Amino acid sequence: MSEVAKVTQQLTNVRARINKAAGNAERSPDSIKLIAVSKHQADARVDAALADGHRVFAEVRIQEAKIRWQERRDAYPDLELHMIGPLQTNKVREAVRLFDVIQTLDRQKLAEHLVQEMDRSGHCPSCLIQVNVGEEPQKTGIWPEEADDLVQTCRDDLNLPIVGLMCIPPMGKEPSPYFALLRTIAERNGLAELSMGMSGDYEAAVELGATLVRVGTEIFGEREGP
Ligand SMILES: *Cc1c(COP(=O)(O)O)cnc(C)c1O
Repeated sequence: MSEVAKVTQQLTNVRARINKAAGNAERSPDSIKLIAVSKHQADARVDAALADGHRVFAEVRIQEAKIRWQERRDAYPDLELHMIGPLQTNKVREAVRLFDVIQTLDRQKLAEHLVQEMDRSGHCPSCLIQVNVGEEPQKTGIWPEEADDLVQTCRDDLNLPIVGLMCIPPMGKEPSPYFALLRTIAERNGLAELSMGMSGDYEAAVELGATLVRVGTEIFGEREGP
């Protein structure tokens, strides 16, 4: 099977599984957005997804995202690009220019840089706050018990367009309790969007309320490099 046919088939499979999981949870499939994670994937695979009509993608590195998407942006005006990798303050200008959604806001200093750049440029990507649900020291994301304060600061003091929360549960552990925790924090803060679920666990995430699922290898196959 060609690369293009494979990607097309996998997109169909993943969409069907999302719809089934939504049905199990008595949710409307329309309330769940599939984000195709294109990091470290060959352009041919990404173009296959575009040819299939898919328009929502995510990247983890600014540099890679620029190379891939700057021109494709012009070719596909309805494209929606999400930033899901750690964001350094010195990359905020490029991130605000390139992305429609930034999912990895996790500290006040970054929030302040984002506000400044949004004011300066007039571009206002929606933001999600990343929560380090497993309290893993090596991972980015705000600690769960500090999340409410950061939401308040970002949304109420800095007036950032905070739409929801994002998480990456610890590797090798049953993810459901972490998805449930993210949902609890979102609900008590009145946030609608829940970005959770990757190739291995997006159905569980949908059943626990995910509105954005981030799927890479299950759509595109194994990545090249890291
Ligand atoms: C790579 C990545 C994904 C996609 O992972 P897969 O297991 O390939 O689906 C999702 N979210 C984040 C933050 C990632 O870095």
